Amino acid sequence: MTDTFEYPAPKLFIAGRWRMGGAGDVQPVLNPANGQAIAEAPMATTADLDEALAAVEAAFPLWRGTSAYDRAKILKAAAALMRERARYIGAVTTSEQGKPIGESSGEAFACADIFEWYAEEARRAYGRIVPSKHPGVRHMVFKEPIGPVAAFSPWNFPTTIPARKIAAALAAGCPVIIKPAEEAPGSCLELARALDDAGLPKGVLNVVFGVPSDISTYLITSPVIRKISFTGSTVVGKHLAELAARRMIPSTMELGGHAPVIVFDDADLDLAARLSAAAKYRNAGQICIAPTRFYVHDSVHDAFVEKFAAHAAGLKIGPGLDPATNMGPLANGRRLSAMGEFIGDAQAHGAGLATGGEGPGGAGNFWRPTVLTDVPDTARIMNEEPFGPVAVTQRFTSFDEVVAQANRLPYGLAAYAYTRSARTSADIGDALEAGMIGINFSILTGPETPFGGVKESGHGSEGGIEGLEAYLVTKYIAQG
Ligand code: NAD
Repeated sequence: MTDTFEYPAPKLFIAGRWRMGGAGDVQPVLNPANGQAIAEAPMATTADLDEALAAVEAAFPLWRGTSAYDRAKILKAAAALMRERARYIGAVTTSEQGKPIGESSGEAFACADIFEWYAEEARRAYGRIVPSKHPGVRHMVFKEPIGPVAAFSPWNFPTTIPARKIAAALAAGCPVIIKPAEEAPGSCLELARALDDAGLPKGVLNVVFGVPSDISTYLITSPVIRKISFTGSTVVGKHLAELAARRMIPSTMELGGHAPVIVFDDADLDLAARLSAAAKYRNAGQICIAPTRFYVHDSVHDAFVEKFAAHAAGLKIGPGLDPATNMGPLANGRRLSAMGEFIGDAQAHGAGLATGGEGPGGAGNFWRPTVLTDVPDTARIMNEEPFGPVAVTQRFTSFDEVVAQANRLPYGLAAYAYTRSARTSADIGDALEAGMIGINFSILTGPETPFGGVKESGHGSEGGIEGLEAYLVTKYIAQG
């Protein structure tokens, strides 16, 4: 299919119409594998945003009044279309974002699972009856949709991150305006197309692009919007949460991470190296839950690094549309220069290099899978999220020391540990400050399980029953 594939021209999707922005402004969409422009993303004007706001305001009574059963039918029909179109959606994602086609079409299938799961969950937004001390009085608790949602999603998972927000909000009965990343606009538009084709009423979902800070400020300060959801960097998340707080509207914030991986002396080193390398270099490391800071017991450090670096060095880097590619290019030039800076700084602080450390040169944002060893805390990469294919190691000897190291950053998104001991598994699970922890396992995403962080990694969860709850408010009625 990739031989005949043509990247679809991105449009805005407002009030059920596919169209360009009112002023005709556009921004180029680049293929990260060769730097060439493949399309132009339309930019919304203030008038376009007003139209989207009017659309969600008008759609809310209709959509909340649609039974959960009927909402679920549309979400399930859209999920079936996503599954049917998964290879095509994957090619859209790979063309604009760079990741290997196997990863991107797998993500399109994951979107179908997310929509299907929330379609089912929509029908379980139960309230409850509370026994009353007043004779003849009923205490009733209802869950109701919070109202129109503004969502902002990044370029690293341009289908699954929008899917988590859209599926949960629509399932709960909330209409949505989403602003996906301008750099990778086509993926989310394919979700919108599937929902449109499945019969989603006009105005229930709107997709806009533009100058990110202008769009988010305009939407969050509008009285129409009752809830926001953002995935991206901590610095932007803090700014958007502040805007939302001024209007007292709740926010779900999925922000940065800097995941520690603790490899204890009794760990299965082959398992730890294999699972960690798969999780680290997937999507070229541009994942907020990517394992990054490897704290390895001194007695097994060198053996682990040898195995882990062998996995890293064995990955074939290349264009994502080539089925033989294991790791594609970085999504944009900013990440490429960031890798060079992080690695140069770590080496200046005395870090060793087990593999990688540079790009292959030539066109495209390619960088070799990299492992830096014995990196001191003073290096930038031990403190700032690298968001790229670089892992760093340090040695430890005691449990308390490694827990302090793992918890020393303001981030608290994901953490991982490898040990054969049930006692150590339980103790480390209790001790780590993180929203998600993988013990002898590295896959932390699924429609059914909560995804979210603590500390400066954000608040709220997407996925699981928590993901639906985020778009519901509680109403209590006492009826005499
Ligand atoms: P960035 O912070 O400029 O942008 C990240 C995303 O947020 C982009 O999609 C962008 O369009 C959006 N954004 C930026 N400012 C916004 C605003 N005021 N309102 C609404 N949306 C806004 O940085 P970047 O160079 O694109 O990425 C760099 C860093 O962002 C990474 O190092 C990483 O820490 C973080 N990031 C995190 C995730 C995640 O999944 N948590 C995803 C992408 C980027």
